[in-house]
Amino acid sequence: MLQPRATRLVGESAFEVLARAQALEREGRSIVRLEIGQPDFPTPEHICDAGIAAIRAGKTGYGPSNGIPELREAIAAHAGAKRGLDFDAANVVVAPGAKPTLFYAINALAGEGDEVIYPDPGFPMYASLIRHSGARPVPLPLLERNGFRFDVEQFRSLVSARTRLIIINSPQNPTGGVLAREDLEAIAEAARTHDLRVLADEIYIDFTYDGGFETIASLPGMRERTLIVDGFSKSYAMTGWRLGYAILPSDLVRTFDLYSVNIVSCATTFGQYAALAALQGTQQPLHDMVAEFRRRRDFLVAALNELPGVGCVTPGGAFYAFPNIRETGFEAPELARRLLEEAGVAALSGTAFGDAGHGYLRLSYANSLDNLGEAVERMRAFLTR
Ligand code: PLP
Repeated sequence: MLQPRATRLVGESAFEVLARAQALEREGRSIVRLEIGQPDFPTPEHICDAGIAAIRAGKTGYGPSNGIPELREAIAAHAGAKRGLDFDAANVVVAPGAKPTLFYAINALAGEGDEVIYPDPGFPMYASLIRHSGARPVPLPLLERNGFRFDVEQFRSLVSARTRLIIINSPQNPTGGVLAREDLEAIAEAARTHDLRVLADEIYIDFTYDGGFETIASLPGMRERTLIVDGFSKSYAMTGWRLGYAILPSDLVRTFDLYSVNIVSCATTFGQYAALAALQGTQQPLHDMVAEFRRRRDFLVAALNELPGVGCVTPGGAFYAFPNIRETGFEAPELARRLLEEAGVAALSGTAFGDAGHGYLRLSYANSLDNLGEAVERMRAFLTR
């Protein structure tokens, strides 16, 4: 018999659609792949070279459970410079991806009888991990009319005596929305008043197109309340390397380190040397990639808005478009399924990201302009049959 908590975990539909798209491709079908949230760029060469050199230099054994000291120093400096804050390497824990740090945070801070507020639509692992912890997930709706920001009054109404943790993600998966300073201020105020922690998933920090980035950790009193989660997957096209990190309030460092020792021992040692090269080497590949994503965003959003029954707000960040498809007459899960099976376009139903995703699709524009154009033409042909 499984423990109830194990039965409360759910999967990530991007990986299910990916498997189905690959199966169709094996049958010889042409599928435009807009389902998966990973850059379609290779890991920059100097980063690969550093990883290979580290293997050759014998960096293939266990390392410190919280990460090699050089990398933690580099993360503190780099992540601090990007956010205008002064971080200490002692507060950095490196992990095999950002995902494990989400698990550590939620598991450590929430349990039976607690509530955790999280964005809806949002990264599916939040609700899954909250349920696994025994706490009650409290969805905070993100509103299309607000550019997929939340309503501050509604947020305030969701904070209760049982709230332990607030999860925010900006720029956001799946909507591409970016929170404004007033949103962060409302959350910070609630956190200070009710003595709450904030888990700030900042993995898309480098992908903002219309303005700068602001972390909630920079607001008064928030450094000691905020757990920043970031990683190498998106910014350096390193999803398969499995490297992420958390920057933590001092009182949580030991706990995260213990989770690391108990579950993973450490992140891949030679990979950490590659990550060091990512931070210390040229940032040009990142800048070029973000510029290309911006071109794609502008193209895709304009093209989607020409489709019958489709309306798409311009996402301020990440690399996802979240078009409203209500007026096509389709429910989102059916449209996503039929676009894949009949039109050869792999997209995700907004419902894969929570109840507030009804009426939307998520399209990842981590694909070439040509393929994005092809996807939109296939969608047009399907919708105008
Ligand atoms: N957080 C968000 C919002 C994401 O979209 C993703 C990946 O899709 C992750 C975390 C996980 O990233 P990692 O590859 O570092 O585990």
